[in-house]
Amino acid sequence: MGNTISEVPGSATIKSFLGIKVLNLEDAYEQMAINETQDQYLRSCTESPPNLNALHKIYLKPCRPPATTETMSNAAVASMPTSLVPSTIRVGIFENGLPHTRPPSTIWFPESLLRKGSAHFNETFLHECIHLHQREHEDLWDKFYREQWNFIRYKGTIPKEVEARRRLNPDTLRAPFYAWNGPSGPCVPVVVYKNPEDADLSEVRLIFVRPDGSWSAVLPPGWMEFFGSQIPSICEHPHEMAAYILSDNSNPFDSEAARRLRNMYTSFNRGRK
Ligand SMILES: [Zn+2]
Repeated sequence: MGNTISEVPGSATIKSFLGIKVLNLEDAYEQMAINETQDQYLRSCTESPPNLNALHKIYLKPCRPPATTETMSNAAVASMPTSLVPSTIRVGIFENGLPHTRPPSTIWFPESLLRKGSAHFNETFLHECIHLHQREHEDLWDKFYREQWNFIRYKGTIPKEVEARRRLNPDTLRAPFYAWNGPSGPCVPVVVYKNPEDADLSEVRLIFVRPDGSWSAVLPPGWMEFFGSQIPSICEHPHEMAAYILSDNSNPFDSEAARRLRNMYTSFNRGRK
């Protein structure tokens, strides 16, 4: 079962848009298994004690989509900038946890989000669609991070003690690490659990790792001036920063980094029309 929409305003301008498929319970189980073969997120969590602890507090178990899922998803796509609509969107509902994406093209929403009202849902839907877009257009985003945000792909290693506490995020799990090449040299933002013994997905702190293996929770010089003051946990990866800046209506993100990002996606939009 599922649905392919054909009447989203503006969708005619997106030649590659294939539509939304809302996963019924059976499809959702199958899709989660496919997700796992592609990103091994659950397996990675079982190999990392704090991530396994954090996962035990939530229920990533698929459930039947509420009747409103299809209507709300279609309305959310209709309200999105056309440039950020990924070509394929599969929507699955699970019992409890944080909204996230997994390959290929799957957005997972906790059931409670469908009850929070459409404004909140649209914002989260856009956020997750940006993650799908990042998966689909990796080169575009990589070029933007390099040329406009001064982030370079990090080929070094993350110290063992940091890796042992790092929160795994399905949205960035298989994406490269990025180092911000600021005035004091490259440093990689990483989010770690505050209490690895009793890890909670929302109880985290931001640290910066340097290529020599040292790390610090102090923002590197120039970071605040360029990116502004943001909730530390969203700075864990440029993919998260970009998704928040473009989707969070409650925060104006008034910074040079935000201005450059908005310019980028506006010009990309013009190119698509
Ligand atoms: Zn995100």
